[in-house]
Amino acid sequence: MKTSLLILLLIVATAKVPPTMVYICSGAKGKKYHLRADCRGLSSCQHKIIKITLAKAQKDGLTLCGWEK
Ligand SMILES: [Zn+2]
Repeated sequence: MKTSLLILLLIVATAKVPPTMVYICSGAKGKKYHLRADCRGLSSCQHKIIKITLAKAQKDGLTLCGWEK
């Protein structure tokens, strides 16, 4: 009984997790992504702040901004 409940929880936990969204300053040459749109690292962004998936940011070689480590 307990085991089957655990398996069920595991299935629920791994099923359909929405992708983590991160923020980047489009047009900038920065190689950072941000977890929050109001991050101080984005406050100097002169371009549009766009939202992309974390997977895409990492695929593009972006790394987490220094303020959010
Ligand atoms: Zn940031």
